[in-house]
Amino acid sequence: MSGILYLCATPIGNLEDITFRVVRTLKEVDLIAAEDTRHSIKLLNHFEIKTPMTSYHEFNKVEKAHYLVEQLKQGYNVACITDAGTPGISDPGEELVRQCLEAGIQVTSLPGPAACITALTMSGLGTRRFCFEAFLPSDKKEKQQILEELKRETRTIILYEAPHRLLKTLTELAEALGNRRVTIARELTKKHETVFATRLEEAISYYNENEPKGECVVIIEGKSFEEIREEEIQSWEALTIEEHMELYLKKGVDQKEAMKLVAKDRGISKRDVYKVIRC
Ligand code: SAM
Repeated sequence: MSGILYLCATPIGNLEDITFRVVRTLKEVDLIAAEDTRHSIKLLNHFEIKTPMTSYHEFNKVEKAHYLVEQLKQGYNVACITDAGTPGISDPGEELVRQCLEAGIQVTSLPGPAACITALTMSGLGTRRFCFEAFLPSDKKEKQQILEELKRETRTIILYEAPHRLLKTLTELAEALGNRRVTIARELTKKHETVFATRLEEAISYYNENEPKGECVVIIEGKSFEEIREEEIQSWEALTIEEHMELYLKKGVDQKEAMKLVAKDRGISKRDVYKVIRC
């Protein structure tokens, strides 16, 4: 019988945020794969967990996952923890899960803190529909591509950022998305937790005067549907009625519906549209 891989969410600051189940599981498994063993030993000592640890991090994740899969195949139960939060969310947990599933190993995830969800819920921005972009890529071209995609994103956008790159990222976001509403959630669950709900330009001015400190999550409002609609109107104003029809047909709208939409956009009757396209 193979062992089970337990993904164990650990606190993102406040140690009281660990669950009973995570503490029990960490005590019961045979081995804990930790992102930084020197960091996690403090957590283990605090909860009197004596299970052996092995390091599993970004730079050994592929080979170390092979090793952990072998241990699991031999019947040992393994827990995976990272420096903070839910393993697999912007940390090496993802690779281990992939390899375990490929090897037919059972994987389970013990829910708990994740900075992205904690920040979203207190952001004051829409929580019904959201997307998580994690850290923007450092590669310039890739980052530009993502920013281009985000321009049309209507869901609330969640980003992770390190304090020393915060100002640069906010500036790039303002250039790409305009002066959107933004919430910067810092030091979550810790003594100096702050939630700064503002707009991108105000945030940039603020951080030009005050050096960003502490871990943070940046949450930006998505593009409004009205804005998209206005842009579409502006984009068809230069078009002929035929070209305007084509715009909707290309989107997969049928002929009848396209006529209705073109008429509505231009404030004319469907018959007027029909007369033009029939000729
Ligand atoms: N696995 C983690 C999770 O579930 O949230 C995320 C790991 S990622 C390597 C680290 C990033 O998460 C930080 O750069 C920061 O953006 C965010 N983060 C983690 N802890 C935080 C906290 N207490 N307050 C604000 N942001 C935090």
